[in-house]
Parts: sequence; C-alpha cells; structure tokens
Amino acid sequence: MSKTFAILTSGGDSPGMNCAIRAFTRSVIYQGHKVMGIRRGYAGLLDEDIIPLKASSVGNILQRGGTILRSSRCPEFMEEKNRKKAADILKKNKIDGLVVIGGDGSFNGAYKLYSENKTPVIGIPGTIDNDISGTEYTIGHVTAVQTAIEAVDRIRDTAFSHERIFLVEVMGRNSCGLALRVGICTGAEDVLLPDEQVDYKNMISNIERGIARGKNSSIYIVAEGEKAGRSYDIQKTLGEKHKIKAKVCILGHIQRGGSPNAIDRLYASEMGALAANSIINFTEPLVTTYNDGKVGVSPFANCLTKISGKDQRQIELTKMLAI
Ligand code: ADP
Repeated sequence: MSKTFAILTSGGDSPGMNCAIRAFTRSVIYQGHKVMGIRRGYAGLLDEDIIPLKASSVGNILQRGGTILRSSRCPEFMEEKNRKKAADILKKNKIDGLVVIGGDGSFNGAYKLYSENKTPVIGIPGTIDNDISGTEYTIGHVTAVQTAIEAVDRIRDTAFSHERIFLVEVMGRNSCGLALRVGICTGAEDVLLPDEQVDYKNMISNIERGIARGKNSSIYIVAEGEKAGRSYDIQKTLGEKHKIKAKVCILGHIQRGGSPNAIDRLYASEMGALAANSIINFTEPLVTTYNDGKVGVSPFANCLTKISGKDQRQIELTKMLAI
C-alpha cells in the first residue's frame, strides 16, 4: 500500500541539505510512495505550509546551497501543545512519517514529537558546525570549512603585503570544530576557542616570536562564541592595552552558503536514501550517521546532544605547526 512521508529542514541551513532532500524524495518515490515537502521548518508545519514533491520537483537542486524547502527557527515548537498540533496536522494530511534535516535543536524537537505523539521520525544531521553527538559528520560542515579556507587564503595575501595581523572570525557559536579545522588548514598562528578567555600574554609573545624569526603577518582564527563580533573586543584590547594593531574580518553567513562539495553531495545523498528506507520500514526513531568511514543509522537518543568539538590533538597540532 502506498504511504506518504514528509520532509522538512529546520534551524541553520547548510550546503548539501538539497542533496538530502533530492535523494530522500526520489528514493521514496522509487519505492512506490509519496512525498510532501514542509516549508520553513516547524513554523511551516504549524502553518500547514505543505507541498507535494515529485521526482521533477527536486531536479537541478543538487548543486545549490541552502534549502529549497527553506528553514526557520520556531519558538512555538518548544511547547508541548504546539507539538501536539503539529502531530495532528501530519495526521490530517495523511502523512505516515516525518524526516527532519537539522541540528541538535531540531532533533530535540523531532524526538519530542515522537515521544509525546508517537509520530514516526527520522533525523538527518545538517549543520555547518559538526556538533551533534553520535555522528562524526554533519551535512555542510566540510563545504563550510572549505569556504572559510578560501576566504582566509585571500586574507593572507593582503596580510602578507601590508604586514598585518588579522583576526578572522568564523561561525560555530560554542562549537570548536569549524574553527580548529580552518585553523589547521590555513596555517593560522592560533585558534581562539569560544569557551576560553584570550591569553593575551601568550598571544603577544607569539606575535613577537614570529616577528623575530621574520614572520611579517599573522592570522588568528577566532571562534565566534556566544556573540558574533567577539573579534572586535579582542582587537580593542590588543590596541588599547598592548599597542598592537590588528584587523578584523568576520566571515559570517558566507560560510553557510555556496555549492556543496563532493563529500557533502555524496554523504547527503547516501543519508537521504537511507532516511527514506528508515521511514518506510519504521521501527524506531533513527538518525542517519557517519562513523568509522560509513554512513549508517543510530538510535535517535544518541544524537540529541551538542558536542564541543574541542579536539586536544587538533589544538596541539595548531600550536606545533605555528612555531
Ligand atoms: P539547530 O537545529 O540548527 O540546532 P535550533 O537550535 O535553532 O537549530 O533549533 C531549531 C528549531 O528546533 C527551534 O527553533 C525549535 O523550533 C526546535 N527546537 C530546538 N530545541 C528544541 C527543544 N528542546 N524542544 C523542542 N523543540 C526544539
């Protein structure tokens, strides 16, 4: 018997979400079922902003960043009564299961939808921060790292020419993954992690040591932390207290956009297809994951926690290579 399954994207968008939407849609249709797309995440679900997706609806989207379904943040979904309303809307529209592409916040919402209302849910991890427990990979992270690397390479050219110190701020809130990988891949002098106070004494001695050995410019990668624009505070302290001039460049939403790279296209496509099988043959809520070199599934409960990505090995590598 033909069933109907829905898909939505929620929270911060990331490059490769469209690859997962496409793979999910076509895999479900291939197996004789129907697909509905819910626009604007949980907000769209509560507004019943639901459209049919055909095989042709997801043509020519593989290479596009963002999400054709659009995304949103939806504070109403934090309330149980609204999740009940969402479950009723899904039932009313004869939707047999929901696939959610998003980060840990979106996953917490999806898992509650299941626990409270028994709505079958499957998660696909999509966030540039790579900060979800239970999976080594989330869709969009690798492309975002690549985008930031390209930007820092350009900044390095001008930093070298003008003999400048740059503070380049990358996204990721309290997650360290993006900042550390960008730091290693761009040969940054150091990475200022979101949960740590800046050690100005150490920073200045690094700058002085660099100058003594002929380094005429430096790049510091700053993880944004709670509040984007943290680099301006660091710039101010360096200037006012230590008489060191630094330029700030905040990469911001540039890191979210752009065409997904090969890794994101490949794993997002695999995850989309696996999510289709998991929702068609639903037994329990699962998240598609990537661990030990393979795409697979994990119980949903394993993937509800935000992880910091503070990898000691990468921190030491950054410092060692910056001598
Ligand atoms: P991400 O999914 O990228 O981590 P957010 O944390 O902003 O992004 O979460 C996206 C949406 O998921 C929120 O706007 C809200 O609708 C829902 N959500 C987040 N956390 C919860 C929660 N603890 N319970 C229920 N819904 C949640």
